[in-house]
Amino acid sequence: MKVCRSCGSSNTFEERAVSYPLKLNGRIIIFENVPALVCHQCGEMLFQPETVRQMEVLGRGERPPTRMERVPVYDFAEVV
Ligand SMILES: [Zn+2]
Repeated sequence: MKVCRSCGSSNTFEERAVSYPLKLNGRIIIFENVPALVCHQCGEMLFQPETVRQMEVLGRGERPPTRMERVPVYDFAEVV
């Protein structure tokens, strides 16, 4: 039985492929279809250590990305 650290629910995790943005070395990298365990109570995502390691390796840019996208940025100090 797995208890969610974020909301305290138990047995609410299911395996899903998620999109996950990560800031590495000052730039945003978006990983798609990442295998994760997602709490369907609060949305907390858990990754296997191996998955995190793979994202860090890919984030170093040793392999070309699937595609490039421009990312809009909103700074709450400026716009809200
Ligand atoms: Zn939760």
